[in-house]
Amino acid sequence: MPFKALGLAPAILQAVQEAGYTEPTPIQVAAIPPILAGQDLIGIAQTGTGKTAAFTLPILTRLAAQTPPRRRTRVLVIAPTRELVVQIDENIRIYAKHLRLRIATVFGGVGENPQKTALNEGADIVIATPGRLLDLMGRRFGDFSGLEFLVLDEADRMLDMGFLPDIRNIVRSLPRHRQTLMFSATFSKEIETLTHQFQQSPKVVQIGRRSNPATTVTQLVYEVPHDLKQNLLVHLLGDPGMNMVLVFTRTKHGADRVARKLEQQGITTGTLHSNRSQNQRLRALKDFKSGSVRVLVATDIAARGIDVDGISHVVNYDFPKHAEDYVHRIGRTGRAHAVGEALSFAAPDDQAALRSLERFIGRGLVRKRAEGFDYHARPAPRPAGEFSDRGNSRFAQPASRGSGQRHPQSHAPAHRSRDDRSASHDRRSFPSRPHASAHASQPQRTDGHRAAHRSDDSRSQSSDARQPMGQGASSSGRDNRGPRNFWRRGRN
Ligand code: AMP
Repeated sequence: MPFKALGLAPAILQAVQEAGYTEPTPIQVAAIPPILAGQDLIGIAQTGTGKTAAFTLPILTRLAAQTPPRRRTRVLVIAPTRELVVQIDENIRIYAKHLRLRIATVFGGVGENPQKTALNEGADIVIATPGRLLDLMGRRFGDFSGLEFLVLDEADRMLDMGFLPDIRNIVRSLPRHRQTLMFSATFSKEIETLTHQFQQSPKVVQIGRRSNPATTVTQLVYEVPHDLKQNLLVHLLGDPGMNMVLVFTRTKHGADRVARKLEQQGITTGTLHSNRSQNQRLRALKDFKSGSVRVLVATDIAARGIDVDGISHVVNYDFPKHAEDYVHRIGRTGRAHAVGEALSFAAPDDQAALRSLERFIGRGLVRKRAEGFDYHARPAPRPAGEFSDRGNSRFAQPASRGSGQRHPQSHAPAHRSRDDRSASHDRRSFPSRPHASAHASQPQRTDGHRAAHRSDDSRSQSSDARQPMGQGASSSGRDNRGPRNFWRRGRN
């Protein structure tokens, strides 16, 4: 179906054409007509499916059809993170380039004066994170009395991040007569409750199977002990085809450590996490987008919704805790119609989480061995005083050396975290299983009949996803093995 058939205004069609889009994505085909018709809508779609254009194009078409009221905001888009706000702003400016509209962003971590001015001058479209917006609205900046459209983007993540009270307070001061659009990667009970509160007879538009990674992403698993992960990453980056690589770590300190190691190897690297200032984070994204750094190391929250075209590889350096995070992480590559690869490092104590993930996405993942990589190498010792990021950081101990020696400053074993206790077993052994040949890219089912029994009920999927993977994700005893049982089994 061509964009022309969707009923969009000529100025919008021109902008879309100039953006290089040849045809609408499925969420755009499904969502644009009901939004143009004035209906409330819930879009169940992941980032990377073209959902920003799906809500922006019809809103802009409706705005273009009317003479704007003076100094009143007509569209409010609320999103969970600053990065996402910046990206939505960039996208809207592309689609609105032939319209005369004022667009403002509102988010914390930067000076509020320009935001106050923009609100008071009457931005037609405001894109905001909940906290700063509520703060400024509370101090009577902006006029939302003529609001026509409210968009809640990544609503599920906003709930996860505890923004519900802020959103309720914001919505309370908006006109009741408005069109409300809500987008979420999952359709949980909580999201359903939200729709009853904020929407009227919304149309539900759902794209693809819920919580499923894009089919254009090749997914591979590298089984590797924790202490060789840095070496493996450097080894894999020897492939020049990995030219735009997003690496996920579990913690901010982990991200810094990985980035330092890559820089030492001459690999240009940026970091994106919440210990960095807003300007540093925007700078890191800009450098990554422009290609002046090849690798961006990020944590989940900071990377949420990152929209960077052309990411060739996503590396799950630390295996994600929740299956949903996996889906979001790897959604950074293979966006829209592009292809990409997702490489996940799985250490021995990630095996239960890996099996849970395979159940969640309904298929087995190919295990691959890195060609020419020395799996028996002794890892380089960490500098003295550098701490492991595994487990609770309050209890984290200086990392043990490769041979099992403990750091001279380490505390008594009784004080060690659970993760450190498992480290004292042989952390390098994996259950034997077939590996993919060197260039395998077709996923194979490895979980046999168990995947076939997986429920397709989205609610059970999403509630599974909120549990740490591998911990109570299944009712079967076999799948409830925690890391410690795994080790017992591995040593037998
Ligand atoms: P989103 O899901 O909104 O984050 O969009 C993901 C990416 O898809 C963005 O980089 C958009 O520029 C791009 N995109 C959106 N719609 C289309 C389309 N119809 N054709 C090609 N790319 C698109």
